[in-house]
Amino acid sequence: MSVLELARPEILALHAYSSARLESGEARIMLNANEAPWPPAGVLSGARGRPLNRYPDPQPERLLDRLAELYGVNRDQVLVSRGSDEAIDLLVRAFCRPGVDAIAIAPPTFGMYAVCAGIQGAACIEIPLDEGFAIDVDALSERLPDSVKIVFLCSPNNPTGGCTALVDIERVAYAMRGRALVIVDEAYIEFADGPSASRLIEHHENLGVLRTLSKAWALAGARVGCLLAGKDIITLLRKIMPPYPLPTPSIAAALAALTAEGMVLTYQRTALMVAERERMAATLTRLPGVITVLPSRANFLCVRFEDAVTVFQNLKSAGVIVRDVGRHRRLSGFLRLSIGTREENSRLLDCLVRKANSA
Ligand code: PMP
Repeated sequence: MSVLELARPEILALHAYSSARLESGEARIMLNANEAPWPPAGVLSGARGRPLNRYPDPQPERLLDRLAELYGVNRDQVLVSRGSDEAIDLLVRAFCRPGVDAIAIAPPTFGMYAVCAGIQGAACIEIPLDEGFAIDVDALSERLPDSVKIVFLCSPNNPTGGCTALVDIERVAYAMRGRALVIVDEAYIEFADGPSASRLIEHHENLGVLRTLSKAWALAGARVGCLLAGKDIITLLRKIMPPYPLPTPSIAAALAALTAEGMVLTYQRTALMVAERERMAATLTRLPGVITVLPSRANFLCVRFEDAVTVFQNLKSAGVIVRDVGRHRRLSGFLRLSIGTREENSRLLDCLVRKANSA
């Protein structure tokens, strides 16, 4: 069975929009896309890439090549999207029929999977993380209803910070073969110092991996993410993607970050973030008022406080904003602290220590 049999039949039957840019070929005089013939007023000097009066390449080849190389897959196994958020949405829209199909998630986890399912009218089946905040591999491989078309696994998981072993991912992918896609969201994998599930794509046609340049690559404002998956899935999603998803300045920013120089800087900074995470975890664990610091392999720490509401307010008054994740079932009393610069992290610790001492 082809993995495409899992997709919505109306999407399979859909004729994709053919964008003018794709039809331009080698033409030098481009009069096919109703574009302006001159660059816009007010463009920043030094702007790189295609002139802004022209539509961007729908899937910029140089960027696809760089991402394929970086992630160790073939170019036809990469779909570049407006952040990985867009790829999540495209997957749900292509594979889940409204009112019929469902996704499965392992909460507490990243909120967008359920939101995209809700927008699409697909149900969201929850298989909660276990006591140690690990996925329930047995339930995910043996006890999901047939309506589930996509299983989203987040590794490292946001907001708890733990990773899922590749053997467990593989077990779920194997069990779901012919039944559902298994999508591993690796937004934070650069901080985990562990293998990516992208190496499994070759062996499991129902497996996909989400990656993003928003975290370790410091490009959250450029909105560049991607899905790595078999080429049939990539081709299908391109059919439902808006014609020009990535703005030209974002493509240029991504290519600049992915030069040899940019990569060295990113790897150095990632190492720094990991060291800071460990320093913060060690210090927080010893602080009065802190109950638990969950082991994290991401660029944040999920911390349980005796009085999270007061800690949150005190930090806010001191100009430090953290994420209250207490609304997740199982995370009552937890705050998620992103790792910042050494100075920012120290500021946060200072605030906590000062308040603890004055209490
Ligand atoms: N996945 C996870 C786990 C995230 O935490 C986030 C953003 N917080 C995203 C995906 C989306 O990232 P982006 O759209 O910026 O690539």
